[in-house]
Amino acid sequence: MMDKTELLGLDVPELEQYLQTLGEPAYRGRQIYQWIYRKNVTSFYEMSDLPKELRVRLDSHARVSAPRFLKQRVASDGTRKFLLELNDKKRIESVAIPQGDPRSDKYTLCVSTQVGCPMACAFCATGKGGFQRHLQAYEIAGQVLSANRELAERLKSRETQKVGNVVYMGMGEPMLNYDQVIKSVYVLNNTQGINIGQRHITISTAGEAEGIERLGREKLQVTLAVSLHACDDELRSRLMPINRKYPLERLIQAVESFIAMTGRRVTFEYVLLAGINDRREDARNMIKLLKPLLANVNLIPYNEVDGLPFLKPGHDVVYRFQRMLEQGGLTATVRQEMGADIEAACGQLKAST
Ligand code: SF4
Repeated sequence: MMDKTELLGLDVPELEQYLQTLGEPAYRGRQIYQWIYRKNVTSFYEMSDLPKELRVRLDSHARVSAPRFLKQRVASDGTRKFLLELNDKKRIESVAIPQGDPRSDKYTLCVSTQVGCPMACAFCATGKGGFQRHLQAYEIAGQVLSANRELAERLKSRETQKVGNVVYMGMGEPMLNYDQVIKSVYVLNNTQGINIGQRHITISTAGEAEGIERLGREKLQVTLAVSLHACDDELRSRLMPINRKYPLERLIQAVESFIAMTGRRVTFEYVLLAGINDRREDARNMIKLLKPLLANVNLIPYNEVDGLPFLKPGHDVVYRFQRMLEQGGLTATVRQEMGADIEAACGQLKAST
């Protein structure tokens, strides 16, 4: 069987060019672009302003493969976790979090960039399952299309663009799949299509220093989020093996260069693990490490994972930690836990069925 050409992920000039190779006028490419990204239609047969003969021909030569929705779980706070299937039957998850309050009909979507993850962070359900493969840009951006379609249907909304923010914090380490991640940012950001502003996009990393510097050189307006989770090398290397390759000094150097190149404030994510990294000395170390930087700290009380030995700290410990950081001159927020009851919270994704 002939391999079909994947049209998802192509921009307008690329689609125009493709249609010309089929002997069609370029404007057909623009029509198809509108169908895919504005009307969220992936079947050529539904693209009603294309001639019938062209629809049949496209169907035999090309495809638009947004990840296939398998099922969703809805948390009491309105967070929705989607289980999605890719063309090769591999499964990923993305998580839609209501912006503001649970009745909001705009969502932040947390997208995956790999099937599984090779980083093996000690506290993470995804890392525990190992790595399978990188996602292509169309599979990353396609998660937004799938979520938009599913949310519009479930919420019986005529408005097709339900996702207003995208965070690259699902399964996988985005910097290990750098080119496809950046390509997907351009797909999401295209003003003729999904049109999510760069400032509404956050790319997260476990600490791939070279990726951070590369991202700085792109001069994009996206937010960088760094998963810190410990402020001394011994503990961080135990929790996050990436620290052996890029110890804290190297990581901070990369963040400094990102800030110098972009002028953008960087977010540091810090999962609080009871008795491990939530001590007073951890707060003091963090102040020393981050105070010289243009940074925000996001504290995330751990979401417990079956089979892993880590525990969530008490409420009082979490807020004492936050107070210490603020008294030390850092801006620190405690992240509202979203979706923990459906294992959709940070570090809990594993594409289980
Ligand atoms: S925390 Fe992130 S980088 Fe670490 S194993 Fe989990 S998915 Fe990978």
